[in-house]
Order: sequence, then C-alpha cells, then structure tokens
Amino acid sequence: ALYHEMTARMPRWIRINSLRATRDEVLAWLAEHSYTQVETDGIGGVKEFAVSRHVQGLLAFHPKATSALLQTEMYRDNWIVMQDLASCFPAYILDPPADAQVVDATSAPGNKTSHLSAIMFAKSSRRIGQSEGKVVAFERDAVRYKTLVKRLAAVGALAKDGTTGNVVPERRDFLTTNPTDFGEVTHMLLDPSCSGSGIVNRLDFLKEDDDVDELEDTVAAETGETKLQRRLRQLGEFQLLMIRHAFKFPALRKVVYSTCSVHAQENESVVIRALHSEEADKFGWRLAPRSEVIPTWPVRGDPDACGEEKDVAENVIRCIPGGKGEGDKPHVEACNGFFVACFVKHAPTKRPLE
Ligand code: SAM
Repeated sequence: ALYHEMTARMPRWIRINSLRATRDEVLAWLAEHSYTQVETDGIGGVKEFAVSRHVQGLLAFHPKATSALLQTEMYRDNWIVMQDLASCFPAYILDPPADAQVVDATSAPGNKTSHLSAIMFAKSSRRIGQSEGKVVAFERDAVRYKTLVKRLAAVGALAKDGTTGNVVPERRDFLTTNPTDFGEVTHMLLDPSCSGSGIVNRLDFLKEDDDVDELEDTVAAETGETKLQRRLRQLGEFQLLMIRHAFKFPALRKVVYSTCSVHAQENESVVIRALHSEEADKFGWRLAPRSEVIPTWPVRGDPDACGEEKDVAENVIRCIPGGKGEGDKPHVEACNGFFVACFVKHAPTKRPLE
C-alpha cells in the first residue's frame, strides 16, 4: 500500500531520445498539444511538465499523463523513452565523448545503453555516420539479449542501423572477456544484477528472476543468516567481482557502477571493498569527487555504511525510493531507489625521456 502511494506521487519521467529527435522538436510538439512547462517542484495536472535540473533532456509528467503519452506519435516514433530519473544518472555521469570506445557490461533491456549512444550522438556533429565512437553492449541472458537488440533497434541505437546508432550488442558473459582484447575501451557502464529493492515503480525496469522482497526472511539453521542476508552477501560478492574485472581493462579511465538497491551490502560496502582491492591498488583506481558526480543531487551515500571512509559517502549518489514525494503533487526529485558510484583512473604520467 505504501509503495502504491509512493508510485502515485512519483512523476513519469521521459528522456528525449536525441537519436530520433531534438529537444526543440519535443518541446514544440508538447506546446502544440497544450502541455505547459511549470517551474515549481510539484507537477499539478496531466497537461503540466517540468524539466529536470539534474539531468539534461529529462522531463517529468504527472503519473496520470502516462496513458495519453503512450498513445502519442512522439512515443510511437521513439522521440522519447520512458526512463526513470534515477536510471538516467549512470550514462549521464559516464558522459562519454562522441569518439569514445565504451563498454556497457550488463545491458538488457538497454535503456542505459541507448542513453549512452544518444549522449555520444548529441555531442557529434549530428550528421549521419558522424558518431565515430562505439558502445559494445554485453548481455549474458538469451531472452534478455533479444529484448536488448529489439529495444536498441527501435530507438535507433544499433550500429547496423547505418544512420545514427553506434551500439554493437554481444551475447556474452562480461566475466569471460579478456580485458586486453579491449585495449581501446576508455569508458564503462556497470549496472549488474541486484536485489532490485529500490524499485517502487517497475514500469521501465525489466524484472529479473531474483527478487529480494519475495524472499522469506527466515533464519537458516546452519549459518544463522536470514535468506535475505545470504542473498545480499552473494550479490555483493558478484558485484565486487564485476568491478574488479572492469578495473583490469588497460585503457579504461572511468567506470560508473550502479544498482537499483537500497542495501548498503550492494552499494557503499561493495564500493569500499573495490577501492581496497588488489586491482584498485595496482592500477590506481579511486572515486571521482562529488563535483563530477551530479553535485546538485542532494542525497549522497549513507555515512553509517562507510565507517571511517566518510569521503565515500560524499562522492556517491543515493536515491531514496519515492524521494521527496510528500504532499499531493508528484515532486520533481521523486524516483526509484538507486545508487551510483563513479570510479576514475588517471592515465599514468609519462616519465620524461632520460
Ligand atoms: N543496464 C540495464 C538497463 O538500464 O536497461 C539493466 C541491467 S540489469 C540490472 C542487469 C543485467 O545484467 C541483466 O540483464 C543480467 O542478465 C545481466 N548480467 C548479469 N551478469 C552478467 C554478466 N556476467 N555478463 C553480462 N551480463 C550480465
């Protein structure tokens, strides 16, 4: 019941898909159809929308506007993508240049992948074939891989589209990749399987099999752990392994790690363990400072989960499920529960010639 209430107070977010339309085209369409932009934090009616002050190209609508929006030609022609505010943070923070070589390690259903492609295309000269960069999108699950390819094609992100797209999907387990085969890759998105415990409004998330809130929280006699604790421990180990593997890519400079979980075991704890890993030490990985990780976003990491490492809490982002959805009107900062951390590595300084 609480989740239902929160969902009713969360705006429906749409992302302008720059692969198919410009911001001006979308705003003109909205004006022609009597939608008006409001400057307040609350969205009062079905014909109002607000612009995100945190992520460019994101518009917030009243949840009751959803069915009308889904019937528009703007939606049918993929000028817009229904994507939650929180789910737009990772690609926006990774912010690859137009000519970057990018890996999305865990891609399906592909909203963040196509967001990456759209960001790169918007930075290119916007002429056909001018986005020289590439996104290799891995997905290990066969069914989810099919969904990924279909979605990428629909929004114009597939490289074989021959026009705007630059994404090359590969059905592959990221952990089986050999980092040295990807010597050109500089940017990576890592949004691995998680408990999904932050998701209030599931519309733009494709449900995976495991769902922590469906686990009975009973204590296992052998270990003294509840099923929930065991699952979070296993997920944390898997997520750490994925980050440590990412750290080995030789030219990689930036990795954005995200989950839609509210549990510190999948978030701050994984980040702190990754920073203390052998790979972080060997290759010089650290967290990007707050100034590079949407500094305007007010909710940062949980300091209680960071022990002595208070700077970790400052540098990462959390979204509280339902956010500031108090009062009747959906608030422009309300979204699903989410976590984002951005790891960076400085290129080794070249020694002067002796
Ligand atoms: N980034 C996606 C989006 O925004 O649309 C959502 C990703 S979902 C949270 C995680 C995905 O990673 C799942 O589709 C899962 O099958 C895939 N996955 C998990 N482990 C993987 C691995 N080792 N290699 C490749 N894909 C993996």
